[in-house]
Amino acid sequence: MYWSNYHSHCTFCDGRSSMEDFVKFAIAKGVKSYGFSSHAPLPFLTKWTMVEDDFSEYKLEFERLKQKHNKEIDLFLGLEVDFIENYSSVQNVFFQDIQLDYLIGSIHYLDKLPTDEFWCIDGEFTEFDKGLKILFDGDIQFAIKRFYEVSTLMIEKGGFDIVGHCDKIALNSQHYDGFHPMENWYMNLVGDLLQKIKEKNLILEINTKSLTDRGITYPNQEFYSLINEMQIPIIVNSDCHYPTNVINGFESTFKTLKNIGFKSMQLLKNSKWETIEFDEKGLRF
Ligand SMILES: [Zn+2]
Ligand SMILES: [Zn+2]
Repeated sequence: MYWSNYHSHCTFCDGRSSMEDFVKFAIAKGVKSYGFSSHAPLPFLTKWTMVEDDFSEYKLEFERLKQKHNKEIDLFLGLEVDFIENYSSVQNVFFQDIQLDYLIGSIHYLDKLPTDEFWCIDGEFTEFDKGLKILFDGDIQFAIKRFYEVSTLMIEKGGFDIVGHCDKIALNSQHYDGFHPMENWYMNLVGDLLQKIKEKNLILEINTKSLTDRGITYPNQEFYSLINEMQIPIIVNSDCHYPTNVINGFESTFKTLKNIGFKSMQLLKNSKWETIEFDEKGLRF
């Protein structure tokens, strides 16, 4: 039994170690299929995205490692691409003809603040709260609805393989009284988004990044049954930024998924997504 992981960062973006360190740790932890998904360059500078000039080196270093370790692990190269309405998507010129194995579509920024910066929904709570007051008059439900509206737009436009951390706004929203993941208005928003993912035949990631610290995955465990009923193709990703975290939360997540009734997930093989069975010990290669 082995693991797979297609959501990972390294020093080409905000990951804390070299590509090679991540490969070594992945091999040591029993990963057989591993993909790099650095934060793709954005049309403006940030502290956490790859700069466009580094992209050719990203590809070169990946090719070197792929050849060097081809007997131990299947390596793939992707990008985690931000969707920002009217600013960034996989449809931007940069992403045409870049020839990667796969792309993840994610949202970290929502709308533009009066300072001309974008409101980051994935960062520090104080920043989140500040932006919420400015853009949505402090109305968390209004902001959440906007997040799912933009998420739907991203999925409708498509052009990527995997939907990254689809309910990430829940992380900061949980501090507000107006939000609870089990309330009808919220469950309906997530349900509608899942329906879109299903219609577009995209892969939904179960992201374990916050499982150890906060006890939640993205999407929240509360939605696993619904995802299983809807037969949406899934994968489990760690979204690791440290090599020690390459399979963080996998054992318990695989177990929970199996107990809910999931039997299979997606595996990238020879540039095609295949369905593969799993249990709590990993994938049945
Ligand atoms: Zn992300
Ligand atoms: Zn990520």
